[in-house]
Amino acid sequence: MLLDNKVATVTGGGAGIGREIALAFARQGCDIAVCDIAEGPASETVEEIRGLGRKAEYFLVDVSRTGEVEEAVNKIVDSFHGMNILVNNAGITRDGLLIRMSESDWDAVLSVNLKGAFNFTRAAVRPMMKARWGRVISIASIVGLMGNPGQANYSASKAGVIGLTKSVAKELAGRGITANAIAPGFIKTRMTEALNDEQKRIMLDRIPLKRFGETGE
Ligand code: NAD
Repeated sequence: MLLDNKVATVTGGGAGIGREIALAFARQGCDIAVCDIAEGPASETVEEIRGLGRKAEYFLVDVSRTGEVEEAVNKIVDSFHGMNILVNNAGITRDGLLIRMSESDWDAVLSVNLKGAFNFTRAAVRPMMKARWGRVISIASIVGLMGNPGQANYSASKAGVIGLTKSVAKELAGRGITANAIAPGFIKTRMTEALNDEQKRIMLDRIPLKRFGETGE
């Protein structure tokens, strides 16, 4: 298998895209640390992974809290004897037009989506540097490249993730660590269920396949 006995940490691995990534990596032979703020979904992902015959544990952590992230990374390294792959996937939206966007909605989205990726990347590359091998994969968004009305905070956070990724890639290539970002379009999850029909229709109009993506894809 492609990822035999590697250890992958997936933030936001309790639901949606993160859960599918965790399961896909487990099917390729990875052991998985699921990091999520929500215990119920995180424990369900862990049960599914164990059903595939891989080691899995969940760690309750808010990615925006630097101390919690460092503690979680230390616990993962202790329990799994390493940290080979990090997937920065945890993310939130707090949509609204710029003129009505509150400071707290701006701060919340930047803290989770961008600072969360910074927190986890900085903590995870330490063990990766020691091992002289590591993979950091961050889930950005097409919106970080194109912008979207009503998502100034979210698109800024995702553009930030792309800039963070490019800089980390340049800093750490010499240590055997790669950093890449994936920018999905509209994927059917709890996050996108929150959009109203009109917003969904506008999105669909712009998608050549005329359908939304599935998490498995
Ligand atoms: P989701 O809401 O279905 O799942 C997000 C997961 O992250 C949940 O399990 C949630 O509990 C967890 N989470 C939220 N805040 C957290 C925090 N502070 N600390 C730890 N965990 C936290 O969302 P999704 O659609 O699967 O999105 C996953 C990622 O993909 C996000 O970064 C999102 O921005 C990105 N993305 C989604 C789409 C889409 O169309 N769904 C498109 C492009 C990018």
